[in-house]
Amino acid sequence: MNGSKFATRLMLLGAPGAGKGTQAVRLVDELGIPQISTGDLLRNAVAAGTALGKEAQSYMGAGKLVPDELVLSLVVARLAEPDAAKGYILDGFPRNLSQAEALVSRGIVLDRVLSLDVPKEALMERLTGRRICRACQASYHLSFNPTKVEGICDRCGGETYQRKDDSADVIANRLDVYEAQTAPLLDYYEKMGILRRVNGTGSIEGIYAALKDALVM
Ligand code: ADP
Ligand code: AMP
Repeated sequence: MNGSKFATRLMLLGAPGAGKGTQAVRLVDELGIPQISTGDLLRNAVAAGTALGKEAQSYMGAGKLVPDELVLSLVVARLAEPDAAKGYILDGFPRNLSQAEALVSRGIVLDRVLSLDVPKEALMERLTGRRICRACQASYHLSFNPTKVEGICDRCGGETYQRKDDSADVIANRLDVYEAQTAPLLDYYEKMGILRRVNGTGSIEGIYAALKDALVM
């Protein structure tokens, strides 16, 4: 990166399938700040069989939002870890106005919210063909961004899999939940003056370049 000053307390906003995870790993590798994905934190809790994971599971399976207090407890604990002191990339959080307000009330300030704008028609195809690395959570697509070796993550050599909630019926619910509960955050962060909108269609590299431009302070 050149001598410019970049925002480091970031949030990626966008519908399911907009490319948040795809772009987040690139930002992590270049900026050296962690991605904090509430979806990943919740899936880890489910896999570990914690009480929180057991409570979250049914909401996730149906494509509904997990109750705010469960998600907030995970995020607040993760933000307090030392690697988040220099900055972070929130991915999938906040997901509604009350979560956004909960951050403010805890004194957690974002420098920039990057919205990835993708037409709704493209999202279903992106999500039904998605594959995720079990080890590093990198996101691939069977046609649009395939791994070099089938089933093996290019980034870390882990095994790729299909998320259970990437089925057509659950995706449809997740897209409705996004419109109803998450999209209002666009206005909220616009009014705060920290929103930047980036076209989320086209090549992954081209979108990444546009995101980086939108990070200059
Ligand atoms: P999100 O984290 O926002 O839910 P992902 O980053 O997992 O979305 O991307 C969803 C799917 O779309 C993945 O299969 C990914 O490989 C694919 N994808 C990401 N960016 C693009 C793009 N620019 N063009 C086509 N497909 C993309
Ligand atoms: P994601 O990995 O971001 O697609 O999230 C997968 C699922 O986890 C969502 O469909 C929700 O059930 C749940 N989830 C993730 N983040 C949040 C959040 N901030 N608030 C509530 N539920 C969430």
